[in-house]
Amino acid sequence: MNLIIKKNHNISQRKISKNSMKVLYRLNKSGYEAYLVGGGVRDLLLSKKPKDFDIATNAKPNEIRKLFKNCRLIGRRFIIAHLIFKNEIIEVSTFRAKNNTAKNHKLYSPNIKKSNNGMLLCDNNFGKVEEDAYRRDLTINALYYSIKDSGIRDYIGGIKDIKQKIIRLIGDAETRYREDPVRMLRVVRFSVRLNMYIDKKTEAPINKLSKLLTNIPPARLFTESIKLFCFGYGYLTYIRLRKYSLVYSLLPFLLNKFSKKNTIFFKNIIIYCFKKVDFPTTKKKLRCPEFLFASLLWYPLIEKIKKLLTRNKLKYLKAYSMSVHYILKKYSILLGIPKNILLNIEKIWNLQKDIETKKNCENKKIIQNNIFFQALELISLRSRAENQNELKKILFFWNKKIFFLKKI
Ligand code: ATP
Ligand code: MG
Repeated sequence: MNLIIKKNHNISQRKISKNSMKVLYRLNKSGYEAYLVGGGVRDLLLSKKPKDFDIATNAKPNEIRKLFKNCRLIGRRFIIAHLIFKNEIIEVSTFRAKNNTAKNHKLYSPNIKKSNNGMLLCDNNFGKVEEDAYRRDLTINALYYSIKDSGIRDYIGGIKDIKQKIIRLIGDAETRYREDPVRMLRVVRFSVRLNMYIDKKTEAPINKLSKLLTNIPPARLFTESIKLFCFGYGYLTYIRLRKYSLVYSLLPFLLNKFSKKNTIFFKNIIIYCFKKVDFPTTKKKLRCPEFLFASLLWYPLIEKIKKLLTRNKLKYLKAYSMSVHYILKKYSILLGIPKNILLNIEKIWNLQKDIETKKNCENKKIIQNNIFFQALELISLRSRAENQNELKKILFFWNKKIFFLKKI
């Protein structure tokens, strides 16, 4: 183990959230070992603001629950404690033991269960901090900071990889991806967000194993999609996910067949909408994932409407409402999009016609509606994707209207 003492690193306790400090302090005071670990340590070392703070301890889940009133135990594969504070949730996990599922091995644990394809199904086997380090995904995520001595414990070489900007999976890459295919997405996400290189051995099996993502429950994939696409690096992440064939499990409609015209529009809108979400040009923030999925699914919707109109000879409104229902249902099942987000996607779509026909254009209330603003942004993307003058004129009309309505 390499101990990096206080004067040799840049982590200051002032940068750690007060709640995490309290949790670490209380665990230590009650006689448990406890460390800040994961993104909190990694991002502070890289002088970035951590998204959240994770804690690892030798206290067992029910011991954590006894210490904290605001504790909720979650997860089946591995039980962790969520400590719920006003503005943040702190994840406290108990040190995991070395992974061994071979029945004749001396460290065999009946608490670790794998599926036939190597995926971890149940992993409630607790161990020591040095064992826990080997169960983490990346070397840069396996650094343990103690508030007792302000030192960082590095069991695997995370500090060197941070300095050299290398994303390196711990252990045999193929085995670790088979245990949990989401690790492939995490490798890509951190390589983009932290602007780091992916180590060759970590990179090598990804293309071949990318299909394993189909075994992941859609709700988990959707949570990952938000982390991948909605934090300012969506476009670059999308490009890199494509490179490793990982994007198709997250956005399966990329493989849909479209008419010639819609193929071009669809390709264009993908680029434009990721860039728009990453770099909003207006002061109001675009709501990701609602806006992203409303835009990405727009041409699959148009294609479906077209099919119903030609094959079933339906009236436009009927074909439209059937298609909306069909697309939202299909992708809520495939992508795990939650209901509240589906509702907003539908509202953004429904407003497209109203905006095109200038409905309610004298109503001041309409411009205060956030969904209207998202819908107008979709009109803007469509006008660019299709290079359509009519839509550009409509956009111009509304922008002028909004300007005057705001003045009243
Ligand atoms: P961020 O919170 O900025 O997205 P993070 O690395 O903190 O990044 P979390 O999802 O908060 O990511 O996870 C906390 C820590 O738990 C990770 O740093 C890593 O050590 C461990 N971890 C998370 N997911 C996995 C996984 N699939 N396999 C192994 N370890 C994991
Ligand atoms: Mg984290």
